[in-house]
Amino acid sequence: MQTLREFHRRSLQERDPFWREQAAFVHWETPFERVLDDSRLPFARWFVGGRTNLCHNAVDRWLPEQADAPALIWVSTEVDQEETYTRAQLHKEVNAAAAMLVAQGVGRGDRVLIYMPMIPQAVFMMLACARIGAIHSVVFGGFASVNLAQRIDDAAPKVVVSADAGSRGGKVTPYKPLLDRALDLATQKPASVIIVDRGLAPFTPVQGRDLDYQALRARHDGAQAPVAWLESSEPSYVLYTSGTTGKPKGVQRDTGGYAVALASSMRHVFNGKPGDTFFCTSDIGWVVGHSYIVYGPLIGGQATVLYEGTPVRPDGAILWRLVERFGVNTLFSAPTAVRVLKKQDPQCLRRHDLSSLRAVYLAGEPLDEPTARWIAGELGKPIIDNYWQTESGWPILSAQPGVEAVPTRFGSPSFPVYGFDARIVSESTGEDLPAGQKGVVAIVPPLPPGAMSTIWGDDARFVQTYFTSIPGRQVYSSFDWGRVDEDGYWFILGRTDDVINVAGHRLGTREIEESISSHTGVAECAVVGVADELKGQVAMAFVVLKSPEQAETREQADALEGDIMRVVQDQLGAVARPARIRFVPALPKTRSGKVLRRAIVALCEGRDPGDLTTIEDPQTLEQIKETL
Ligand code: ATP
Ligand code: MG
Repeated sequence: MQTLREFHRRSLQERDPFWREQAAFVHWETPFERVLDDSRLPFARWFVGGRTNLCHNAVDRWLPEQADAPALIWVSTEVDQEETYTRAQLHKEVNAAAAMLVAQGVGRGDRVLIYMPMIPQAVFMMLACARIGAIHSVVFGGFASVNLAQRIDDAAPKVVVSADAGSRGGKVTPYKPLLDRALDLATQKPASVIIVDRGLAPFTPVQGRDLDYQALRARHDGAQAPVAWLESSEPSYVLYTSGTTGKPKGVQRDTGGYAVALASSMRHVFNGKPGDTFFCTSDIGWVVGHSYIVYGPLIGGQATVLYEGTPVRPDGAILWRLVERFGVNTLFSAPTAVRVLKKQDPQCLRRHDLSSLRAVYLAGEPLDEPTARWIAGELGKPIIDNYWQTESGWPILSAQPGVEAVPTRFGSPSFPVYGFDARIVSESTGEDLPAGQKGVVAIVPPLPPGAMSTIWGDDARFVQTYFTSIPGRQVYSSFDWGRVDEDGYWFILGRTDDVINVAGHRLGTREIEESISSHTGVAECAVVGVADELKGQVAMAFVVLKSPEQAETREQADALEGDIMRVVQDQLGAVARPARIRFVPALPKTRSGKVLRRAIVALCEGRDPGDLTTIEDPQTLEQIKETL
């Protein structure tokens, strides 16, 4: 703990030497002149004047030691295929992909929109963009046309790269018709569209616009695309937030700061070393996928597993089978995946040799105690809860906040990661709050290397959105509530707009959810505050049961509702007891696995559910409506 505190302290107070050390994990073609330019806060420029390249650091730089070692391992349980690319093969594919883009007139600073399933070509194209200094905007494969059109217009890409189709849970989604419609809607039309034809869904190419990936690949076989050495602050990509609390925001990331943050975090937060195998089950459409499927592991000299499939198909042991087969050292997933596995087959971990695995990292949403207990108990290895945002680019809080893991506390992602000057501040005065008090999780600028540089194309909105909500103080607001306990452990208590006010009592929906989840029959739940004439707001709970038969009849449902109410009353008091509990087959979630509480609230209050661009399954909203 001593080392750890010292590490964190140095990252803030001895910033220059500290970040110089971290920057040494990265190859700089031209050394930087200054570690930080903070003359225009909240805008920060890291490693000013240095020139580097993400693709070079991820691929070329490891060729001397690792040319023949696996770099990208692709497994698809959707189409039953598997491919392994060594670093040299990856280098070849990325060069060919980069040459394809160059031939289409793409150059430094141009945008390329990537709308693809989890296939190797998606990774080749991301790295190809980085190689030539083009800015990628990856849009989650299968997103609806309207959202895709918005992102096309926002980025104004020269080229769009896509595929005929993706597949999820055994169901093929044709992407091409979605893309065609989006391109009709968009005003910023790309010059060309490159399509990977997987043979999953027949389509008719648009003459003069659509190009076939494999045909171009053959034409550029063996091509070399020179690396563009970017100044550290030049943008690497744009990526949108999940849209859980509103309209998604286009996060812009730099190059040098991001390279350093990832390279450094692979060592200090993920405890890895070159030659390891890293398996992150996220999607390339999300920040976790950008940072820890594609760039982080490759920059850290590790092999990365790219998995097209779900955690439950063909069965609930698939992730563990892959860990065993590829000797995975670090697994990075989300609490929602663990909850699904626990519900499916609680014995699934015991049948596999997981000796290669050192730790499991979980992020994206609160890790509830029953889930944490189950996975920790089954695995007997560290479970590292880590808290972050699309904006931060890498973990803000972690049970391995730098150099070493800490003894964990259930429900807590432990401590601030080095580089992040995180505070709990009062939403009314902006002051730092003492231990035990609940406030807004904020970060004192400068945001560390790797965090967002601005909102794409809108500096004013960046400042306005993130740095003006706390009165009297220019700090970054995470829009999450948090609390620190007496020993310095951090707890995330939900979104700032998820606090409800019942007859003058302020309650965090997260606390009520935790309490409901402790009932043994509950698989997961969402609690929302709904406007009420008498009390201001009341809490409504939507619960997914482990076995839905438990609430099949009216009497059973009523009895169970009463049971759960009592649990909440015993743990949190009568005011926290939800006004109603409804049982549903599934909760509405974003494609990144987050519960869309604002849409539930809207339905409960008889309003339009608002921006649903990122919803996974619209039917879940219908199911909620039916219970009301
Ligand atoms: P939007 O900003 O568009 O509303 P979003 O905030 O859901 O969407 P992301 O950046 O994907 O978009 O998610 C970040 C949020 O996820 C955090 O602000 C936090 O609420 C939640 N989160 C992430 N990791 C954790 C964690 N380990 N524990 C608790 N909450 C987490
Ligand atoms: Mg957010």
